[in-house]
Amino acid sequence: DHLGPTVCVGEILVEIVATTVGDGFREAQPLIGPFASGAPAIFISQCGRLGGAAAMVGAVGNDDFGHVNIDRLRRDGVDVSTISIDPDYPTGSAFVRYRKDGSRDFVYNIARSAAARFGWSQGVRDLINRSGHLHVMGSALSVPSAREVIDKAVDIVKARGGTLSVDPNIRKELQLDEDTERRFARLVSAADLLLPSGEELERAASVSGEAEAIRRLFEVGVKEIVLKRGSLGATYFGRDGDRIDAPAFLVDEVDPTGAGDCFGGAYLTCRRLGMSPDEALTYGSAAGARNVTIRGPMEGAGTRQELDAFIASTERRS
Ligand code: ATP
Ligand code: MG
Repeated sequence: DHLGPTVCVGEILVEIVATTVGDGFREAQPLIGPFASGAPAIFISQCGRLGGAAAMVGAVGNDDFGHVNIDRLRRDGVDVSTISIDPDYPTGSAFVRYRKDGSRDFVYNIARSAAARFGWSQGVRDLINRSGHLHVMGSALSVPSAREVIDKAVDIVKARGGTLSVDPNIRKELQLDEDTERRFARLVSAADLLLPSGEELERAASVSGEAEAIRRLFEVGVKEIVLKRGSLGATYFGRDGDRIDAPAFLVDEVDPTGAGDCFGGAYLTCRRLGMSPDEALTYGSAAGARNVTIRGPMEGAGTRQELDAFIASTERRS
């Protein structure tokens, strides 16, 4: 942590959730929200709550939804001075309803919202020049403005001896255009920590088979990999062949959104605070599991004290 804060760049949203299970939004129905959201924002919220130095780069509109996010991240201890407030566009939003089979219907306003309207500025440059770690969500690569910031930031952070973590967060089927695919591959090979979930591992490696993907990723330069497996837990892979399987905590899942982001934010922060992979896995697993027990994408992100209490009181799958 001595080099400077962890910085995350990307979309900031509010999420509004249907309180009933069913198909979509074609009739009036009970909703709850706005909740602060956006994968990069959830990640950095968890970093801040755990006591890591953290800063967010992104944009919101000049509206109440923007305040929900800024106030929330500020309370979590995140430096929000590089979240810009767009005078013309509303804060990004996502309406979400779960179907019976666990899949989801969405109504998004992201690409044409303030969430996509930020860029390289004096303030962002000053922040990156004093930051020690950059976290990138693969999903942010589809936002042109985020792409520019990420490209510049990776080089600067790496050049000053800082580190990079990448959560591919890209569905296996998703075809990226050639340019985005190249950027994605460059990010993956520069990653000190890769945080894929399920099939994203093979997607990031461009090969099939778990063992083959791990081998390939280390070959292209990745330093450390943690594979997230939802309610089945998570696995750490080290370059030296080390492997640690972390069983999941046994919880009642109320809202799965944000588990991976809280896991990643907690794991990375613990590593930056000097903990071993084993200890960081415990906090990451606790952060992911705790977050799914509370409705809202980042409402369950825990402080150090809350996670310690959760770990002490919750059984793990054997
Ligand atoms: P996201 O939907 O946020 O993208 P993800 O697919 O990236 O999630 P998951 O594997 O779903 O990530 O969750 C990350 C971690 O959180 C898991 O490895 C596990 O430790 C914990 N976790 C997630 N869901 C559960 C659950 N239902 N029960 C217990 N632990 C869970
Ligand atoms: Mg994910």
